[in-house]
Amino acid sequence: MRLWRRNATVKGERVGFVPTMGALHEGHLSLMRAARNECDRVVASIFVNPLQFAPHEDFGKYPRTFQRDLELMSAEGVDAVFYPNEKEMYPEGRESVTRVVPPCELADCLEGHFRPGFFTGVATVVAKLFNIVLPEAAFFGEKDYQQLLVVKRMVGDLNLPIQVTPVATVREADGLALSSRNVYLSEEERKIAPMLNRTLNFVKDAAQSGQLSLEAALEKGRADLKALPDVELQYLEARQADTFQPAAQFELPMVVVLAAKLKNVRLIDNVVVR
Ligand code: AMP
Repeated sequence: MRLWRRNATVKGERVGFVPTMGALHEGHLSLMRAARNECDRVVASIFVNPLQFAPHEDFGKYPRTFQRDLELMSAEGVDAVFYPNEKEMYPEGRESVTRVVPPCELADCLEGHFRPGFFTGVATVVAKLFNIVLPEAAFFGEKDYQQLLVVKRMVGDLNLPIQVTPVATVREADGLALSSRNVYLSEEERKIAPMLNRTLNFVKDAAQSGQLSLEAALEKGRADLKALPDVELQYLEARQADTFQPAAQFELPMVVVLAAKLKNVRLIDNVVVR
């Protein structure tokens, strides 16, 4: 990877980087296309990072489709793929690795509340990948909005010379955000899943039009989701889009975020209002 990078530097090429956990879909590919448009060379990584999974989570059964991923990346014109194994990333063992701990006001709420340690795992692996790939630019999906802010904050706080570019969420025709975890959904759950995005849009539209106050719109959204069979709502909240501070009333830019479990499948989504 270092040799490849050095070669690009010698040629004066700008390197764009797309970190992923594989099981690629159109969402990932849109990040690669954005990198392709903005950079001379594109590197993607595939690493299912054990550090960001809690013991009860799906690390073991996370979908792994490496050969297909390679074909998709090749078709997108990705120039290099970095796919380390766990030993290469955590040679001393992951338990004792030096960690990057994002600030609690960003990392301990919402996703961080339901997945303790998750953002430390993400920030640590992203910092390591950045230091290995040494990209000028990195591309992250708005689908994982809180993660995007954690990465941006880390890059700022640690003075990493990398431009972080957000890429809009890619969805199915019925609004369901693409996710590698969608393959876990049963036929029944797949029918209910678009309700998450529909509810986010309801909250956004009701609050933006002034039909309801932001709090009333969120309350109605929560009630609608809780009324659905087999849906366990974890959170539905509005935050300031830049700072991630709670939004008390409708204000711009804002993001409405949610997480819900459809039986055993945990999905997240958001809508950004600018
Ligand atoms: P993952 O493989 O889930 O770690 O995701 C790798 C990158 O792809 C992250 O920056 C995600 O935010 C992004 N991503 C995942 N799903 C989507 C989507 N539906 N639209 C856009 N970006 C996505």
